[in-house]
Amino acid sequence: MEYYRAMRINNVTTAIFSRSGEILYLVEGSREAVLIDTCLGVGHLKEYVAGLTNKPLTVLLTHGHVDHAMGAPEFEKVYMSPADRKLYQDHCPMEVRLGYLESQLGEAAKEIPAQDFVPPCPDYGFLELKDGMVFDLGDFHVEAYSLPGHTAGSFVFLIREYRILISGDACNNATFLFDKEALSVEEYRENLAAFQEKMEGKYRRVFLSHRMVEGGEDCIREAIELCGDIMRGDTDDVPFRFLDMEACLAKRVNQYFEREDRKFANIVYRKDHIFKK
Ligand SMILES: [Zn+2]
Repeated sequence: MEYYRAMRINNVTTAIFSRSGEILYLVEGSREAVLIDTCLGVGHLKEYVAGLTNKPLTVLLTHGHVDHAMGAPEFEKVYMSPADRKLYQDHCPMEVRLGYLESQLGEAAKEIPAQDFVPPCPDYGFLELKDGMVFDLGDFHVEAYSLPGHTAGSFVFLIREYRILISGDACNNATFLFDKEALSVEEYRENLAAFQEKMEGKYRRVFLSHRMVEGGEDCIREAIELCGDIMRGDTDDVPFRFLDMEACLAKRVNQYFEREDRKFANIVYRKDHIFKK
């Protein structure tokens, strides 16, 4: 069974779905291609992507988490924020990757053969991803923007001419701000507000890394508002467990994980990590 399957979104963008639930994006121009994220370093991603494009490939990582960055060492040219380097190294060991896979696939995770894994490579030589970098794919551009919150080195990518924002885990319908590597809600709000001001009118679609390809186009604006609600205590605070961590989901959701007030953005946070220290 293939670990990945692909779905064409438009002329230049392909969503790649992994068996463990992550969504990667391949964006292909007339001259070059970029792959956004690399999943857990499992299932021979490089070979899979080579079946989709023969253009020279650059890999861009939204952040250093185990489910986004571990496939990087298979590729030659990978950009990541240096701010997530230590996090990447912490997530490299096989037990972290297997623990995550088990949380997604249950017992089936144990049946993946050892040769299907990219060996851990904590010293991998990443290229430095910087705010405002532009990748020219020939007939259009992908731009990189720093948006710290979920992690200190989180980046989002704008497919400029197509007005698509790929937000990774930086902003979605369950943005995780409860891990030790996350910024406070207050800092996240400041970063979102600065980002939104800079990006006004530049995108009209938002693509995500988990659960669904397309999120609400007002996701960033709603997340800014929601950070304000959290800081004022105007939240529903639904208990939320992930692996062995406990946190609060800010706004109540229905069985499809949609906010009851029909807004899209939602945040999982800790009460002791709302304000800047
Ligand atoms: Zn993440």
